[in-house]
Amino acid sequence: MIKRIGILTSGGDAPGMNACIRAVVRTALYNNIELLGYLRGYDGIIDNQYVVMQRESVSNIIHRGGTVLKTARSPRFMTPAGMQQAVNNLQQSGVEGLVIIGGDGSFRGAVELSKHIDIKILGCAGTIDNDLVGTDYTIGYDTAINTVTDAIDKLRDTAESHDRVFVVEVMGRDAGLIALRTAIASGAEALLVPEMHNDMALLGERVRQWRKTKSSRIVVVAEGDEAGGAYKVADYIKSIVPDFDMRVTVLGHIQRGGSPTCMERVNASVVGYHAVKGLMEGRRNELVGIINREVVYTPFLKTVKHKETLDAGMEEMIRVLGS
Ligand code: ADP
Repeated sequence: MIKRIGILTSGGDAPGMNACIRAVVRTALYNNIELLGYLRGYDGIIDNQYVVMQRESVSNIIHRGGTVLKTARSPRFMTPAGMQQAVNNLQQSGVEGLVIIGGDGSFRGAVELSKHIDIKILGCAGTIDNDLVGTDYTIGYDTAINTVTDAIDKLRDTAESHDRVFVVEVMGRDAGLIALRTAIASGAEALLVPEMHNDMALLGERVRQWRKTKSSRIVVVAEGDEAGGAYKVADYIKSIVPDFDMRVTVLGHIQRGGSPTCMERVNASVVGYHAVKGLMEGRRNELVGIINREVVYTPFLKTVKHKETLDAGMEEMIRVLGS
């Protein structure tokens, strides 16, 4: 029977991580498992910085964004010396299992760690981009798309009042899922995402058809799109319709914060609960995901980032609805 485990949040933060931490803590303590909360990702293991988590350590955090354990990227963990220090500390602390809340990079780190020490590790997907194989849901995504939709609604109000075009840049370096969903939800007139090729040329075609009949236009751009960001897109639009009044808004880190949505809190609680249950069953090196509403465990090595391909039907729908 597993007696002591550790938990950490690693990589980029995401709203809902606290709900997941709370679920892990409560489930572990309920099952008489001691829990060490490592601070600042893998750095916490290397520096032996942890808090012995109590029931009260996670009181009143389910509704808070960010992560009470703090998070970090740890270049030291990627060096042999850093890895060895982490292994020594884990051995000394008697930790038999770990729950890692993070992205695919953090899971690659977990796989490396498990090559050096016999320890059970399970992961919960924490990334606002929702681009991991092994789960339909990643912690942070639902809150992020609601934050973005709310922000674009506000921009729409002012765009309408001034008859303006707003080019809105949202997060998504490799995947345009945030842009795609929020463009549909906010009734955007155009969308540029990494998944769509030649989207700049398509945008040009659309802009040429724009007349000043509609008072506002919203163009949503994923930061990773080949067009090169909202300012370049705005310059391009301006070159076609110089008389349109145009503004650029880069939403930035506002997308990572805020109180998690109801769906976020529930799903983060589900994967946190099942992470501890999985460790108790002896599982290791797997992501705890939710696929078609079922809890599914997927080996870390398969949880690479994926790009959702945009099928022709979806592209067509976006064009039609934004026309
Ligand atoms: P995310 O988990 O959000 O994808 P990163 O890709 O930055 O974020 O990874 C988070 C951390 O995981 C890194 O800072 C590093 O400490 C650790 N990590 C990632 N890849 C490896 C690896 N190949 N070996 C050891 N540690 C790794």
